[in-house]
Amino acid sequence: MIFDVDHETLPREELQAMQLRRLQITVERCYETVRFYREAMDELEIKPHHIKTLSDVKFLPYTKKEQLRDNYPFGMFAVPPDQVARVHASSGTTGKPIVVGYTRRDIANWSHMVARSLSAAGLRPGDRLHNAFGFGLFTGGMGLHYGAEALGLMAIPMSGGQTQKQIMLLADFGATALCCTPSYALNIAEEAEKLGFDMRKLSLRIGLFGAEPWSEEMRYELESRLQIDALDIYGLTEVMGPGVGVECREGKHGLHLWEDHFLIECVDVDTGEPLPYGEQGEIAITTLTKEAFPVLRFRTRDISVLEQAPCKCGRTHVRMRRISGRSDDMLIIRGVNVFPTQVEAILMRTETLSPFYQIEVFREGFLDSMVVNVEASPPLYAKGQEFMDRVSAKVQKDLKDFIGITCRVQIHPTGTVERSMGKAMRVVDHRKKAAQS
Ligand code: ADP
Ligand code: ZN
Repeated sequence: MIFDVDHETLPREELQAMQLRRLQITVERCYETVRFYREAMDELEIKPHHIKTLSDVKFLPYTKKEQLRDNYPFGMFAVPPDQVARVHASSGTTGKPIVVGYTRRDIANWSHMVARSLSAAGLRPGDRLHNAFGFGLFTGGMGLHYGAEALGLMAIPMSGGQTQKQIMLLADFGATALCCTPSYALNIAEEAEKLGFDMRKLSLRIGLFGAEPWSEEMRYELESRLQIDALDIYGLTEVMGPGVGVECREGKHGLHLWEDHFLIECVDVDTGEPLPYGEQGEIAITTLTKEAFPVLRFRTRDISVLEQAPCKCGRTHVRMRRISGRSDDMLIIRGVNVFPTQVEAILMRTETLSPFYQIEVFREGFLDSMVVNVEASPPLYAKGQEFMDRVSAKVQKDLKDFIGITCRVQIHPTGTVERSMGKAMRVVDHRKKAAQS
């Protein structure tokens, strides 16, 4: 059963005709109502009527995170404040956050897309969704909440934190699905095991995880520890929030991005040139239906590959491979590019290690060096230092053989690596700290 079968299975020609109509309206709206877009388009000497085909999108200016931030708080809104039904903001670790707005129709569309996503992941009315994404300015909690209601689920707005209470309520309320970040799901699973609680005996059957990059190996880990199907859900504040796309349960290979609401491009990180399907690059998104906060070619910094091969679920919308990481999280260690998810994959393939890790990067003289801090499983730790040294030598070799990086792997006792409550901090970059001080 497909929730919105008319739109989700539209033949591509019709889908593209719809995209073009909506793109023209969006460009017009941006040009007429948002000073930033008008100035950026004038500079490139491009007017809304120049957009005659979908590929003309390449003439439009890119929008970057910094530009949204420069227009804090409401400078990028395309409607007057009295039409804004709600605002959210990106987490923005330092300085001012990016504030986004929604009209009532934007909220309705968002809920609809989340409902679609939940349904594609296999949830049906009658399911109970335990929502451990944070509620508040962060889009995760509320975005999933209203989508769950729109699909007719029992929504359980738990929010993040209070891990022991999460476990009690997961059991007592009989949740059939859990949504949160993958790192927090792992934290919940570990805490439950510590309490002697068998998560596999719960009624949980589906996990929807997102808001941070994760690996296929992490999927296996979560699936076996929680006895669920673990699916990937994607979204970002600047474009809408969660529900921009999701993995379908039938395919479990790449996320369908809802192309009737978004125009998706994959572009070269350095040159900004559009790339063909199948090539790895940065995902850029143009909203097609947003009223309060439309964006033109927003550079997400998320690195992935778009694929157009048909999916067995019957949905015609493009698929985006699991995100390897954000361009700004990519580490360059002695000339080799590496994403934390690549390191994660190797660590998780090593059975004697626990799946908790953090990477530290230092500058030693003119060279960058990297230390991977990871935990031993309790049986490994019990075997003593010599044995652990052998395991770390083996992992160091695997990292060298499979990714090409030389680094030091330090194995620590269980519980020493910081546990995540939301987005995990995978990298501590001491070079940045040194540069700041
Ligand atoms: P930020 O973290 O930038 O403050 P958001 O809370 O809006 O803002 O998070 C959006 C970002 O989270 C995305 O751009 C992406 O980097 C990451 N993200 C979201 N979903 C996923 C996913 N399923 N896989 C990998 N990364 C994701
Ligand atoms: Zn599919």
